[in-house]
Amino acid sequence: MVEGGRACVKGLRVLVTDPLDDLFLEILRSKGLEVDYRPGLSRGELLAVIDRYDALVVRSRTRVDREVLAKGRSLKVVARAGVGLDNIDVDAARELGIRVVNAPAAATQSVAELTIALLIAASRRLAESWELARRRVWKKVMGFELYGKTLAVIGFGRIGRRVAEIARAIGMKVLAYDVVDLTGYAEKMGVKFSSNMYDVISKADAITLHVPLTPSTYHLLSWEEFKLMKQGVILVNTSRGAVVDSEALLWALDAGVVGAAALDVLEHEPPKTEAEKKLLYHPRVIVTTHIGASTVEAQRRVALETARKLIEALAASNNC
Ligand code: NAD
Repeated sequence: MVEGGRACVKGLRVLVTDPLDDLFLEILRSKGLEVDYRPGLSRGELLAVIDRYDALVVRSRTRVDREVLAKGRSLKVVARAGVGLDNIDVDAARELGIRVVNAPAAATQSVAELTIALLIAASRRLAESWELARRRVWKKVMGFELYGKTLAVIGFGRIGRRVAEIARAIGMKVLAYDVVDLTGYAEKMGVKFSSNMYDVISKADAITLHVPLTPSTYHLLSWEEFKLMKQGVILVNTSRGAVVDSEALLWALDAGVVGAAALDVLEHEPPKTEAEKKLLYHPRVIVTTHIGASTVEAQRRVALETARKLIEALAASNNC
């Protein structure tokens, strides 16, 4: 539970603009904070009211850019209830003296489990078989085992390493790529680390993405990268949609380079571009609705960790 700090933060006003666990709201209110829970608040409404609040709490939907931060004249803290900070202008917040906190480890296990579920769903063509069953067509669909196959993990951070551990337990060979040299970590897990992404993706039977969305990872996988991959490779993306160039992926699927893709994330959610809409209905693509962190356990951890960090940051900004 979140201890202490009541007197210090009592009466401060917190705006929550995305859906959050009741536990989170309960903790904040128990500390005497005045919480306005307004999930789904429009951008216009947010800009109109943000100057009344000391803290803003969001998930991935609300875009907290320089304009929002500048209008938040009393803002002391922005809390992201989750991992990725790509919807928050962290540089602008720093310049304006607004602290940014998040819950980086809370969803690791949930996202890793979903990644493995999608990997198996793609390799065994579960969605196709399910669709046939619904049409009462009792036909076999031929898949393949993951055992003995090579998985490339792109981004060997918290989630990437957990996915690698589970994949190793299934009997996969795992190659990992990261911008940071994580050879030591990899060796301990029986994973082969490379600092060359092309080396890793060209050898893989399946590729899974676990990088944050930054200017350097935008369209990290595009035409050039798909052209290097093995014919029939499986692609799983539970990181951020824009890490993959949707048009290039569509080409790679139709050219048979990508045998199947399983995507928990798209550049636009719901899909907006023609390529994204085609991916959604592609027979060899599974799309889920950004559910990586949507488990009871992850949301509880997110609630606890975000509440604790938000209260600590508000207390620190009040010098107590
Ligand atoms: P992390 O920070 O622990 O790991 C990210 C890794 O990516 C780091 O090791 C970093 O060095 C590496 N990296 C950064 N830029 C890179 C680049 N250009 N090339 C290669 N590697 C690079 O983060 P994490 O907790 O493992 O989360 C990974 C991502 O998963 C998050 O950033 C978020 O976008 C995504 N995520 C998605 C969901 C979901 O609901 N689907 C939930 C949580 C997190």
